[in-house]
Amino acid sequence: MTLPRPDVIGSYTVDGKMHFYGSRRTELDRAGVSMVRTLKSFNFDPGSVITNVSLTPEVVQFAPFEYAVQILGMYGTNADLSPFDAGRVESLSRQFDPVAMIGIGKETLEGLEMLGHDAKTVFRGRTVWARPDAYEAVKVLPEVDARRCVIAGPVLLLECARGKLHLDSREWIAESENDQLLLTSRQVRSEPLQRLATGVAAQVSEEACACGNHDMVIELL
Ligand SMILES: [Zn+2]
Repeated sequence: MTLPRPDVIGSYTVDGKMHFYGSRRTELDRAGVSMVRTLKSFNFDPGSVITNVSLTPEVVQFAPFEYAVQILGMYGTNADLSPFDAGRVESLSRQFDPVAMIGIGKETLEGLEMLGHDAKTVFRGRTVWARPDAYEAVKVLPEVDARRCVIAGPVLLLECARGKLHLDSREWIAESENDQLLLTSRQVRSEPLQRLATGVAAQVSEEACACGNHDMVIELL
């Protein structure tokens, strides 16, 4: 079988090694529809703004989130994940008063500090999906609804309003081997994956999440 040609080339990193990963637009759209199921659990008002902090090579993981934001009638603003663009995160927080920010990482926190901005002020009153390297620091900030977002290969795992990390069960088979999350694609993809070792320490839960999303729950270890 000839595999469909990718529309975008992104990447994922496992154990410090970067791999290019091509996706078709339809794959990103399917991932976006799956993220709608998780994002809906927060009941953000249509018309609200969500700030996306990511990097261009993360297009395969974050473009679906932007699509989910659109589907739910919200608006997205963007900044890069870098200390130098943390000033933009701060300025977007004042200009647009976003209900949520996704992809906040160590680089953002370092940049805010470097530029003399107080993270407490930037994130107060918002839902903040933080990457693993920033989650603990974000969690202790006052009046912040801290959530996790975790990149697992070409997938962005997103925590729902009930605090569970969801994975699109229609798109992926998840296994845990030696406590590491492995992903196998179930649908036609431009780059099918067979038991991709994601480098994410996790187990697959059988639990049905109370948020109403029937997608499987991944428990980080
Ligand atoms: Zn849930």
